[in-house]
Amino acid sequence: MEQEKPRLAVFKFASCDGCQLSLLDAEDQLLAVAGAVEIVYFPEATSRMEDGPYDIALVEGSITTLHDAERIQQIRKDSKYLMTIGACATAGGIQALRNWADTDEFMRAVYAKPEYIQVLESSTPISDHVKVDFELRGCPINQYQLIEVIQSLLAGRKPRTPQHSVCLD
Ligand code: SF4
Repeated sequence: MEQEKPRLAVFKFASCDGCQLSLLDAEDQLLAVAGAVEIVYFPEATSRMEDGPYDIALVEGSITTLHDAERIQQIRKDSKYLMTIGACATAGGIQALRNWADTDEFMRAVYAKPEYIQVLESSTPISDHVKVDFELRGCPINQYQLIEVIQSLLAGRKPRTPQHSVCLD
């Protein structure tokens, strides 16, 4: 009997999509990974949007709305292993600049009808809301590091990724 493949899902919150594009850019390696997992949710790349449970969830983007805050709770419940990818998801991203400013003032400057916009006062990393199993930093992430983390998970070994994104020597 054929063994079931681990179910992998890719989710997006407030972000520019650049980290997901990095994953798609690593075509050959992605095909190798795709053979080992079943990609069941990846709206930016496929038409598949299946419900959980998921074995591996990759999360891009920060939490900026009440709906985001509720949605990430459900994703956490549905996912065995949750990995955040990129500066938006791990630190709040460029959109977190508003955390030190007046959000209402920004909205009045940008939108003709700011009263229709519902947004949280701050942009926060995913780990402020749910337990995160692994954080892959970068803007965008390094696609080879991402593939390495996924492959290490599938092989049940520790990922070979640098502890720091810059040299500290
Ligand atoms: Fe885009 Fe950078 Fe955020 Fe990735 S971390 S989604 S590249 S802004």
